[in-house]
Amino acid sequence: MDLPNTSSLRHRNVPAASTQVSEAGMEKDKRLDKHEVYEFGGPWGVTAMMTGFPILMYYLWICLWFYDGQLVFPSSVDDIQPFLGRMWGHVKQDAFPTPYAFAMYGSLMAFQLLLAFIMPGYQQEGLPVPSLGYKTLMYNCNALTCWYTTLVTVTVLHWTHIFRLTEIIDNFGELMTVAMIVGFAVSFAAYFITIWRGEQIRMSGNFAYDLFMGACLNPRLGSVDLKMWLEVRIPWVLLFLIAVSGGCKQYEVYGYVTPNMAFMILATGLYINACAKGEECIPQTWDMFHEKWGFMVIFWNFAGVPFTYCYSIVYMASHDPSKYQFSTIGYVALYATILTAYYIWDTSMSQKSRFKMQTQGTFKFRKTFPQLPWGTIENPTYVQTEHGNRLLTSGWWGYARKMNYTADWVQSFTWGLVVGTASPIPYFYSVFFITVLVHRCGRDFERCAIKYGKDWDKYCEIVRWRFIPGVY
Ligand code: NDP
Repeated sequence: MDLPNTSSLRHRNVPAASTQVSEAGMEKDKRLDKHEVYEFGGPWGVTAMMTGFPILMYYLWICLWFYDGQLVFPSSVDDIQPFLGRMWGHVKQDAFPTPYAFAMYGSLMAFQLLLAFIMPGYQQEGLPVPSLGYKTLMYNCNALTCWYTTLVTVTVLHWTHIFRLTEIIDNFGELMTVAMIVGFAVSFAAYFITIWRGEQIRMSGNFAYDLFMGACLNPRLGSVDLKMWLEVRIPWVLLFLIAVSGGCKQYEVYGYVTPNMAFMILATGLYINACAKGEECIPQTWDMFHEKWGFMVIFWNFAGVPFTYCYSIVYMASHDPSKYQFSTIGYVALYATILTAYYIWDTSMSQKSRFKMQTQGTFKFRKTFPQLPWGTIENPTYVQTEHGNRLLTSGWWGYARKMNYTADWVQSFTWGLVVGTASPIPYFYSVFFITVLVHRCGRDFERCAIKYGKDWDKYCEIVRWRFIPGVY
């Protein structure tokens, strides 16, 4: 694809450590650190989400597990009450938070926290934080060593029968409830501790809204950045373990693992591995430098990601493989799609993060596996903003402003596609995710428009497309 004329842009190796935030830029950053408008429908919208998410999670799980993966509704007005009674019966009987489920989930949390404290890591300086007077925080990126240690540990536990991985699928409902309880408890704790320490920023003054959005930006426990820890170590590790658990379950029942389940093990494995091997790129993401540590992030990472993105795994673990068998060509297309989407997602994320690190003068090449071609751009083009920051216009970022979102979404879609038309529920992730991404993109672009003013317009003229080059 032709890129627009970039002659007015700087085109050379990125000069290190040259970004200085201008006075005007600082004023804009100050404005962005204040609450101005309600997002997510304001206090009522977030209250609906905080109550709606758990209900939706229970409903979808019940349909998936007990109603052959089909969405069920009351058959008439008279049936509403019995229907609700049936639903509640499933929650009470099959998703009660047992001590065993608490022990399982608690052990994972404790183990991941312990590893985060003790394992050696790669030191990465974060972006300058305006609310801390542009101080940068150091991140101990040890997710990779923790991930490898977790892999070895669960393998040993499984083979020695100390903890069979099938236990995860067998106790899915109970574990999901425990995860929700933890999500709520940590959200409240994080909120009140932040207020008590006087470290809150960007507050609206409305309790429900501030609980949802969070109060603190950079929660830390010693050397561990809790927000970054939670973003990777629980949701994606657990999701991968659920996939392996599904594989073990199939092996136990049928004596083999279907290519569909193997696909989910590969897909979730690629995702967690990418987060771990490129952890030094996470401090440059929106969740880390802008989003606070509130219910939205906390609940979703403790409970939402692991227990809703896995619906295809749960379906396959509890249904006959004949229901979702593909032809060889179908499998080839499915695997080729995820590998391509993964490649674009991985390299687009690393291109932008490394560009930011180069600009900041903190980039060092980190040897992790796999390092994909085009993960770093030589001689990138960019728009130098008056704010001081630079907006990358080459690599994937020259084709569309959110290629990373597009590629990530395609991955999510394949996670549903893997069961074909057997059940609509595994498509929940891609439907939910597209809503999140479109909304997030809107919030992000609004924020960037305030932050960069006319330079943002110039950037949007150069990189015209949002998600798909030539289409949208
Ligand atoms: P981006 O990685 O797109 O980061 C957006 C920020 O990057 C902007 O606010 C801006 O910040 C900066 N930026 C944007 N364009 C440029 C550019 N051309 N050059 C330099 N800087 C630029 O988004 P996110 O952080 O939201 O997402 C990261 C990844 O996480 C995505 O792949 C997303 O799909 C994934 N994700 C996955 C979720 C899941 O549940 N699976 C949930 C949420 C995200 P500034 O200029 O202020 O530095």
